[in-house]
Amino acid sequence: MQENCLYLRKSRLDLEAEAHGEGDTLARHERLLLEVAKRNHLEVTKIYREIVSGETIASRPVMQQLLQEVEQGVWSGVLVVEVERLARGDTIDQGIVAQAFKYSGTKIYTPQKVYDPTNEFDEEYFEFGLFMSRREYKTINRRLVQGRVAASKEGKFASGSTPYGYERVRVESGKGWTLRPVEEQAEVVRLIFRLYTEGEEGPDGELHPIGSSAIAVRLRRLGILSPTGSRVWSSRTVTKILSNPVYVGKIRWGERRTKKVSKDGKIVSKRFQVPIEEQLIVPGLHPAIVDEDVYNKAAEIMARKGPAPVPYTCTLTNPLAGLVICGKCGRAMQLRSHPRWPTIRCPNHFCDNVGLKYSVIEERLLQSLSGWLSEYRLNWSDSGPDSDAEQIAAIEKAIRRSQSDTEKLRVQLNRTYDLLEQGVYDTATFLDRSKSLADRISAAEASTSSLTAELEEIRLRAASKKNIIPKVEKLLEVYSALPTPQAKNDMLKEVLEKVVYVREKRGTKNGPFDNFELTLYPKLPPSGQ
Ligand SMILES: [Zn+2]
Repeated sequence: MQENCLYLRKSRLDLEAEAHGEGDTLARHERLLLEVAKRNHLEVTKIYREIVSGETIASRPVMQQLLQEVEQGVWSGVLVVEVERLARGDTIDQGIVAQAFKYSGTKIYTPQKVYDPTNEFDEEYFEFGLFMSRREYKTINRRLVQGRVAASKEGKFASGSTPYGYERVRVESGKGWTLRPVEEQAEVVRLIFRLYTEGEEGPDGELHPIGSSAIAVRLRRLGILSPTGSRVWSSRTVTKILSNPVYVGKIRWGERRTKKVSKDGKIVSKRFQVPIEEQLIVPGLHPAIVDEDVYNKAAEIMARKGPAPVPYTCTLTNPLAGLVICGKCGRAMQLRSHPRWPTIRCPNHFCDNVGLKYSVIEERLLQSLSGWLSEYRLNWSDSGPDSDAEQIAAIEKAIRRSQSDTEKLRVQLNRTYDLLEQGVYDTATFLDRSKSLADRISAAEASTSSLTAELEEIRLRAASKKNIIPKVEKLLEVYSALPTPQAKNDMLKEVLEKVVYVREKRGTKNGPFDNFELTLYPKLPPSGQ
């Protein structure tokens, strides 16, 4: 859940009014803003009061503190009686405030309006950012860039969403953020770079670099989740990773910029990519996860290829390519072509696994698959659907419970406002109460979303457990009639993860040919139970 804060500050006029006996301004503003919070269902967990009455940010210590937190994305929204309380409309400070809120996506709530920087079409927000003249705006931008250079020289991570492969962590002994590798994801990043710069082994035993779309396909086949948590990788996502200097330990600023363009007679804001030479790239505080040589090589390939990835094409001659794994050394068995006697053998010269005629292996594979199917069908009708349904029902129930918890907590949170209004709570008790409720709501929401993810997982698993039956049936029916090795390979890979092959002793020309073991690994989702 998102936390919000109040910022209270007296203006010069307020001071004069108070001198004429108007009563305490800040107390009045606090009540007003808490009403705004209640109306918008916001969780307020802190109230900032500026005691000094300076107009510039430099003369307001509380504002400096708040601004720093806004830049770090601590707050979902800040409530003020009017935007001018943050900074006056005709000053450079206004630009600084506007940028800080804009970059961090922090909302500003006033009794009249909500300014939402995450909404590109919130023109009022942009008007607010553009109160000043064009010349002033340019100066501010220059100042901001200089400010960013200063921040980046320290190598902190300050902008945008956390790159895949890392998590955002606080800088040790100091303010701001940096990045820490998430090893499991870092491995995937390294794999992407390796496939792009070195490639993978083709049927000819040579390495072939593969393009970003082919990499996306590999990652999906490996069941690796994309940066957005989806099962599908796009070539664009791969390209973005390959061209992000964050992976060699650098920080990049100003990759994208907002520009106002005229569309259908209306002014709209559009984001566009900034040319690399205009971006600011400096050494970061965080560790690299890819070698600089590898990164540069990828950049070279990308520059050579242009934006469109060139897929690696090679006509497949072995329907079992990439499927049959040597049970002794773990390498993919390869087809050695021969007009009458094509064989499947291990490419490793030091491995003593004995090869065998291709057709014998293929035949046994289809037989085993057919045997596996009958058994699986039996087990499936015995227990499969029921146990899945039970599990799904249990999780659905837990989700409903967790949602109703959240609802109850929200009602309690609403009540804290009433208790504050009725004077039962003082401000300190209110903040305390609403902070603890906010925390519990976060926890309940997190539990709902993790349960929902689990449910999705189980549903998918149940679906694919069921779907593998018709897939294998279809394969056994049409396999021999399939026109190309590629078509056979594709269909086998739909249902098989791998097939492990072991043969200890060589036969003579006349046999025996059945002295080998073939273990099938059908493509079933991990049971996770
Ligand atoms: Zn081997």
